[in-house]
Amino acid sequence: MDKIKMPTPLVEMDGDEMTRVIWKMIKDILLTPYIDLNTEYYDLGLVHRNETEDQVTVDSANATKKYGVAVKCATITPNAQRMTEYDLKEMWKSPNGTIRAILDGTVFRAPITVKGITPLIPTWKKPITIARHAYGDVYKNTEMRVPDGSKAELVVTDGKGRETREPIYDFNGSDGIIQGVHNTDKSIASFARSCFNFALDVKQDLWFAAKDTISKKYDHRFKDIFREIYDNEYEEKFKASGIEYFYTLIDDAVARVVRSEGGYIWACKNYDGDVMSDMVATAFGSLGMMTSVLVSPQGIYEYEAAHGTVTRHYYKHLKGEETSTNSVATIFAWSGALKKRGQLDNVRELSDFAEKLERAVVQTIEDGVMTGDLYVLSDLENKKKVNTEDFLKEIKVRLEQLP
Ligand code: NAP
Ligand code: MG
Repeated sequence: MDKIKMPTPLVEMDGDEMTRVIWKMIKDILLTPYIDLNTEYYDLGLVHRNETEDQVTVDSANATKKYGVAVKCATITPNAQRMTEYDLKEMWKSPNGTIRAILDGTVFRAPITVKGITPLIPTWKKPITIARHAYGDVYKNTEMRVPDGSKAELVVTDGKGRETREPIYDFNGSDGIIQGVHNTDKSIASFARSCFNFALDVKQDLWFAAKDTISKKYDHRFKDIFREIYDNEYEEKFKASGIEYFYTLIDDAVARVVRSEGGYIWACKNYDGDVMSDMVATAFGSLGMMTSVLVSPQGIYEYEAAHGTVTRHYYKHLKGEETSTNSVATIFAWSGALKKRGQLDNVRELSDFAEKLERAVVQTIEDGVMTGDLYVLSDLENKKKVNTEDFLKEIKVRLEQLP
């Protein structure tokens, strides 16, 4: 059989530890036998990031800008312990942070749902995708402890040196705390466009929620920017796609989400997204079933698994012990990227193959064949736990049986 051709390269970002091991297995077992894999390879493993003084991360992000689609393996974000473990020249920054800053993108996290693994919220039948605005607010705050007797004010000096002041609080009778946070219209607008584009891409409704009734300027600005951009640039396209955008208060959104069936995108401010994405991920089951895609406002896509490098399993693997690590989210990162590449280049066979691969993965788990993390969650009666490599081989068997 002829292998599927790829006219444009896909940017491939390799990574660390157990996910690096899985990365190679996925390519060898599920991809290269069927596709003439055309990738521009960047090794984002910590060893090579250190050798290149992290230049490789910047290069990979720029290549993604050039070609439009990337697939990324999980990578180590160094901490003090990694400094000694890898003898690092510097505590290199999180690659995801670097790539996100260059692409100015928004991260969408979505669970992969399968029969036999019931979400902790049983009404959830379809995935809920969380879009987190990953800029500003409390993550770039300035805060102080304030002694009793102090007066706190918000002071803004404009470009011409003129000051505007607003009182925050007179501390009278107790010490206290204050905090200054910011965001920019530009970043909020990028976030909004990424969300609208992604909703059109996956043909799902978009919800956005904030607390504009209490925060009449700050949160209200988010609401207004979303509304303006929607009205001016997206309303027609949403109508044509049969999808909806709506804004509601964050408390109302939480209540609606819990009662819902799923199947929509929930755009959140930075803090809400941080908290709610952990809630949604936990309720849907395993981290091994959570995908993540970074979408830029220009429509550049970077696909990855939401989990990390699964360090504990890697050290078992190094000792020669058997592992049962879930490769589903990493496989879906590849299939998502290949599908997108196929769509952009009009290579039907590539997109079809990617979809078939996803069906084979889901069917494998629904047939009762799964890794340890899912084995403890599945309510199937005939379930069987397999090791990391056998799981991929079982997928391959089904992939070859599918029409
Ligand atoms: P992690 O790699 O996500 O793993 C945490 C635990 O979750 C694992 O020990 C395992 O639990 C379970 N788990 C996660 N993914 C799994 C999978 N595919 N299959 C089976 N079980 C899975 O998080 P971490 O241990 O906090 O971080 C490890 C490294 O990853 C760190 O260096 C961190 O910087 C990096 N990281 C990278 C990214 C990224 O590149 N996007 C994201 C997060 C973390 P059990 O051990 O109980 O089996
Ligand atoms: Mg969090």
